[in-house]
Amino acid sequence: MIAKLAEERVNMDRCYCKSGLKFSECCEPILRVEQIAPSALALMRSRYCAYCLGDVNYLQATTHDHTWTDEELKFIQDWADNSFWQHLEIVNSGYDTVEFKAYYIFEKKQHVHHEKSLFKIVNDMWKYVDGEVMEDKVTFLRNEPCICGSGLKYKRCCFKKIEN
Ligand SMILES: [Zn+2]
Ligand SMILES: [Zn+2]
Repeated sequence: MIAKLAEERVNMDRCYCKSGLKFSECCEPILRVEQIAPSALALMRSRYCAYCLGDVNYLQATTHDHTWTDEELKFIQDWADNSFWQHLEIVNSGYDTVEFKAYYIFEKKQHVHHEKSLFKIVNDMWKYVDGEVMEDKVTFLRNEPCICGSGLKYKRCCFKKIEN
C-alpha cells in the first residue's frame, strides 16, 4: 500500500474522503503518520481513505484495543479491495463521534454503510472504538449526477458497475 500511496502523492488532486481538498493537504499526511489526526472526524476521514487504498494495517493501527484475527484481517482486506468506494458523506460529527454514510459498490451491488462511530484519545492519538451500524439502503436515479463526483449521470457512471 505504500507503493500505492507513493504513486498517489503525485496524482491525487482531490482527497479520497471527498473533502474537496488536495490529498496531500487532507488525509495523506495522516495516513503516512507524518501528522496526528487533529480530531475524531479527521481520523475517520483518513480511515475511509485507508479503505479506498486497501490499507488494512492503518485500519488496525487506528482501532482501539483490538487485535484482529487473521480471518478478520482477511475479511476486511477483501471488503476494502473488492469494493469500489464512491463517496463519503458526513451526516454529523461531535467531539468523539462521527455519523457517516460510505457509498460503495461490492459484488455488483450498490451499497451504503451508515454508521455512528465512537472514537477515543489514547496516548494523544485518536482511535476508533466501535460503531453502531444503521439500517440504510440507497437507490439512485439513473439520470441523477453520480454520487462518486465524476460529473457524469449515474447511468453513464457507477450504474455500469452494478448488475441490473
Ligand atoms: Zn481527506
Ligand atoms: Zn460514479
